Amino acid sequence: MKTLSLVIKERNEMGILREYVVGSFGTNDPKYKVTGGPSNEVVNCACNHFETVGILCCHALKVLDNLDIKLIPSAYILKRWTREARDGILEKHGLDTQGNGDMNVTDRYREVCPKFVKIAVKGSRAHKLFGDMNLARR
Ligand SMILES: [Zn+2]
Repeated sequence: MKTLSLVIKERNEMGILREYVVGSFGTNDPKYKVTGGPSNEVVNCACNHFETVGILCCHALKVLDNLDIKLIPSAYILKRWTREARDGILEKHGLDTQGNGDMNVTDRYREVCPKFVKIAVKGSRAHKLFGDMNLARR
């Protein structure tokens, strides 16, 4: 909703990269210079929010809207915010659900341990299952 309270206070729409100064409506909050190119869907804000946090700032979103770009360009959707990020984590830690013969003891322990904890939680909650588990232990 913050984007709605922002206004473009200055604009220079000459050239391929357009320049804007974006600030809050009716306040003396800081203003930021934002450059944007509608043809190649690039936007860059002086507040450096995207570079530090990985999410486009409200100033950049305001300029994208002004450039009539209604979908966030894919270059600004980092993999860490997508479902594919999980794939990278699994690959990095060798937690392949298909079974990986190259896994070491530590990796196998990390993969198996949470499963046993889940079984233990279910077993302790279900009275009959708890009894079956106790019998199996003997
Ligand atoms: Zn910004």
